[in-house]
Amino acid sequence: MDIKSVGIVGAGQMGNGIAHVCSLAGYEVLLNDISEEGLQKAIALIDKNLARQVSREKITEAEKSAAMGRIKTTMHLPDLGPCDLIIEAATERETVKNAIFEDLLPHLKHDTILTSNTSSISITRLASRTDRPEKFMGFHFMNPVPVMQLVELIRGIATDDETYQACLNVVENLGKTAASAEDFPGFIVNRILMPMINEAVYTLYEGVGSVKSIDESMKLGANHPMGPLELADFIGLDTCLAIMNVLHDGLADTKYRPCPLLTKYVEAGWLGRKTKRGFYDYRGETPMPTR
Ligand code: NAD
Repeated sequence: MDIKSVGIVGAGQMGNGIAHVCSLAGYEVLLNDISEEGLQKAIALIDKNLARQVSREKITEAEKSAAMGRIKTTMHLPDLGPCDLIIEAATERETVKNAIFEDLLPHLKHDTILTSNTSSISITRLASRTDRPEKFMGFHFMNPVPVMQLVELIRGIATDDETYQACLNVVENLGKTAASAEDFPGFIVNRILMPMINEAVYTLYEGVGSVKSIDESMKLGANHPMGPLELADFIGLDTCLAIMNVLHDGLADTKYRPCPLLTKYVEAGWLGRKTKRGFYDYRGETPMPTR
């Protein structure tokens, strides 16, 4: 299966990063969103991020302009029909994703591979709603996409070997490393990472340590580049809570119960960096612990 063109649905945080790395690797990219403003912002951000790579001498000016030239945008989903590979990276809601696949399917070639960047929704369940469960996979990039080396490839129960191999080739062409994960809640990275973050919140909740001492302990004592609470703010506390709920519901084990303090922060609208307050307050010059 020779993949030359990639259609990306959703031009948010993840979609723009996926478009960036795919175009830089030589794929023709068609980026779709329901918001024209979102598409414009994504293109401006890709341009800025590529310019940063030029200034750091990671790529040349010519490579940057060739990459920009390979990205097109559209608000009309059926335009993605001729693409060889679709990577859906729209809002993390199953109804949204199912509706996208339903609208897109009649326009796809019979052998187009359909993938989702979902962090938590069952690949097998998403696939079962399409006409091609054997050509459906999870293609899970990490945030920020241009920086993070890993892509988790998740096979649904019906995914065939040819589809897996074609996606693996794409990951290698992007210069990234694939980890193969089975289709269970949280896959690999979030299954391990989120309980650690949740445990850090419990450690705070029970008064074992302050925000600063918990983060410093894990940075200096476990050699983590970021403390777990700092990382939670970066990911978004609503996202952390949503993933803990998926683990708790999907694996039915109380060890995955979300910490009540995490829930309280989300209820307060203190979602981390994106709302300027979470375990740290980002409104001033330097982030200040909120506990
Ligand atoms: P985001 O909110 O930044 O972007 C979502 C985009 O989807 C928005 O631009 C929105 O306008 C668009 N959208 C919504 N409905 C659409 C539709 N019907 N058609 C086309 N576009 C539509 O979200 P994000 O953080 O980029 O997450 C996207 C996906 O990537 C989710 O499935 C999420 O679970 C997954 N993911 C996120 C992260 C992360 O750290 N943020 C990491 C890995 C995977």
